[in-house]
Amino acid sequence: MFNNLSDKLDKALHVLKGHGKITEVNVAETLKEVRRALLDADVNFKIAKTFTNTVKEKALGQDVLTSLNPGQLMVKIVKDELTELMGGETVGINLSGNPTVILMSGLQGSGKTTFSGKLANYLKTKKTKNVLLVGCDVYRPAAINQLQVVGEQIGVEVYAEVDNQNPVEISQNAIKHAKETGKNVVIIDTAGRLAVDEAMMTEISNIHKAVNPQETLFVVDSMTGQDAVNTAKAFNDILNFDGVVLTKLDGDTRGGAALSIKSVVDKPIKFIGTGEKMEAIDVFHPNRMADRILG
Ligand code: GDP
Repeated sequence: MFNNLSDKLDKALHVLKGHGKITEVNVAETLKEVRRALLDADVNFKIAKTFTNTVKEKALGQDVLTSLNPGQLMVKIVKDELTELMGGETVGINLSGNPTVILMSGLQGSGKTTFSGKLANYLKTKKTKNVLLVGCDVYRPAAINQLQVVGEQIGVEVYAEVDNQNPVEISQNAIKHAKETGKNVVIIDTAGRLAVDEAMMTEISNIHKAVNPQETLFVVDSMTGQDAVNTAKAFNDILNFDGVVLTKLDGDTRGGAALSIKSVVDKPIKFIGTGEKMEAIDVFHPNRMADRILG
């Protein structure tokens, strides 16, 4: 995960750690390299600039140059700032409501259906919840089949209405069904398109208004870098979602999405997807991720 970024940051900070005497010049050089590493990881230019400026201010504020361990102190400042950049605190999901309604949003291929299954499995095994999965993609029967396969795999009921073309009605009926059958969590998997379009946005906005979810999650493929951030902005403008799910972090992703999304939409990353299997889900901890990035 983020191997390239880790290597580059390691090299940038290594120079500083290796110097006997640390001067303003090599702190400046280190920060330049840190910024370059962030840009290479597909972090937006403005965010990278603000990041290094903040690190610089903190370094000056804490008198890094005259401290006992200037290298270690710099690494700590960079780590703390990376943690802040990714949201600072761990934010869990809101499981209030009976049933709790969780709405998934995002583009097609982002990993919504897979994540719906993972989350159902996670809530079932970790939080002993009784979950209902809802298939709302009325355009692609294959998507409903995929959800049914996932549901069977994890032993969770899937609600779908093959002859109904109205996702708002399907969602409302599903919640009714959940109440009748004693389910306390309803996860609604919605239709996705390959790009943000008006019809899709209207549809998900209508579902959102009709079911009034406790938790609206935006699922995004971390491999898509800056595009991920732009898509997040478009969905947040319409849905004012509660949290982000970053998928495919097991792949060769550069890290830009993870590092930029919080600054752009001011919403926490709540979960990450790290593989295709149902167990490949983790709660997102900004500090642990920063530790991983800095090795
Ligand atoms: P949807 O169209 O948004 O519902 O996306 P899918 O759930 O169908 O996922 C699209 C593809 O990405 C599928 O082949 C999934 O197996 C794969 N996928 C989803 N999440 C992950 C992940 O965290 N890691 C990897 N490697 N693949 C994933």
